[in-house]
Amino acid sequence: KLSQRLQYILEQIPPGSVLADIGSDHALLPVAAVESGRASRAVAGEVNEGPLRAARKQVADAGLADRIDVRHGNGLQVLEAGEADVITIAGMGGALIATILDEGTDKLPGVRQLVLQPNVGEDMLRKWLLHSGWVVTCEHILEEDGKIYEILTALPESQSPLSQEDLYAQVQLAGGCTLTSALHLRMGPHLVKAPNKVFFKKWQGEIAKLQSVLKQVERSELESAREKREELQRQIEQLEEVLACLQ
Ligand code: SAM
Repeated sequence: KLSQRLQYILEQIPPGSVLADIGSDHALLPVAAVESGRASRAVAGEVNEGPLRAARKQVADAGLADRIDVRHGNGLQVLEAGEADVITIAGMGGALIATILDEGTDKLPGVRQLVLQPNVGEDMLRKWLLHSGWVVTCEHILEEDGKIYEILTALPESQSPLSQEDLYAQVQLAGGCTLTSALHLRMGPHLVKAPNKVFFKKWQGEIAKLQSVLKQVERSELESAREKREELQRQIEQLEEVLACLQ
């Protein structure tokens, strides 16, 4: 049985897609995608030997070696241009996912949808998508086994019902706070529109982390610590204000 996280990613894949799952590890997602008909064929890309072997075994055990091609290589290098119409990249940092996409832009024409699940650094990934012509059309946040995950679905700008302007425009919230485009990039433009319990838990946790850094900085007498302290206080106040307005 798939984890809730992989199940949600699976459900974002339009039926009949040709899927490329990059950093596939055990190839659980491509196997489930082909078995469920979400994908007619799939490529599972892996850069590391151990996970590559695990992927090959999983695919062979499922009897799907004729429909899932397990390939060894870095990022999108395992793909031919135009080969995949949906790409999933899950379980890595947002900066690494952005690098994989950026280094593989020659493989992106023809791709109709990206489904991305960064473990951290969601803002860096949203920034890359914004500047590279991909519109985030859907975001989901969930908690599983004590970890919080965000899943982003993005479409090429030309095929998206939303524009980047719609997505990141500054918004004035009731209660007097302003959601700037920087806050949208950080917190997620869709997630802030319909914040759930997990969203509040994540950001309360982020505030707690900032407060603990602030406590350490407060012990320092250096002049540079004063600036750092003020910046941390500003960030904490801003996040607390926004959470209060969203509640
Ligand atoms: N995608 C699966 C999931 O979400 O459950 C596995 C996530 S696992 C934590 C990350 C996988 O990405 C590892 O198996 C790692 O070897 C692979 N990986 C990391 N960087 C990669 C890259 N540049 N190209 C291909 N695979 C990569």
